Amino acid sequence: MTPLIIGNWKLNGSIEMIKSILQPIADAGLGENVVVCPPTPYLLPAHDVLKSSKVRLGAQDVSQYAQGAYTGEVSAAMLKDVGCSLTLVGHSERRGYFGENTPLLRKKVEQALEVGLEVVFCVGERLEVREEGNAIAFVLEELQCLRNLPPVIVAYEPVWAIGTGRTATTVEIAEVHCAIKAAMGENVPVLYGGSVKADNAASILAIDGVDGLLIGGASLKAEEFMATVPR
Ligand code: PEP
Repeated sequence: MTPLIIGNWKLNGSIEMIKSILQPIADAGLGENVVVCPPTPYLLPAHDVLKSSKVRLGAQDVSQYAQGAYTGEVSAAMLKDVGCSLTLVGHSERRGYFGENTPLLRKKVEQALEVGLEVVFCVGERLEVREEGNAIAFVLEELQCLRNLPPVIVAYEPVWAIGTGRTATTVEIAEVHCAIKAAMGENVPVLYGGSVKADNAASILAIDGVDGLLIGGASLKAEEFMATVPR
């Protein structure tokens, strides 16, 4: 299976960055296994740049509502309309800073699936949970949110590894990925995220149960991001 490589720009972006980061990615002959998720205002200009390539566009979040009087929200149908094929749901920054919980996240997943967006559902434990020996149980509990829903992509992102320069070990990654597949089905793609860079991407992709990468900081430099994509 070709690994799925997703770049998450988070709250970083400008028209200038669409040109300087996305244009080289669009010109590099990369496949549809590569996805970039810029902030919402840049989806349309990003779509314009990427349309000459196979690289796909993703969103970082989606509303739990379809339409109506919900100021500031962006619906799944709108994301689809501006060219997204995928959305992240439940990133640990959404859970941690914006209080997103299981009932809310389930509605978001349902909205996205309803319009045919692929969902990358993010899970991952905080450091104290890992240190207590409860990482796998915690992640499997987070996945209960998806019970009885159509299949989605899962991203395992230990919170203590996001943006910290610290990656989980091979054994830690393999254990959690294999537990996720055992619970959700062997065919469910499971991505790893947490301080993935050009110089550790290949070794992480070689770990048992890793089907791709979700990349934050390193997706903000075109050369570095492209170097994470196996070719
Ligand atoms: C992320 O944003 O999901 C992420 C993993 O960030 P970073 O690669 O910067 O750790």
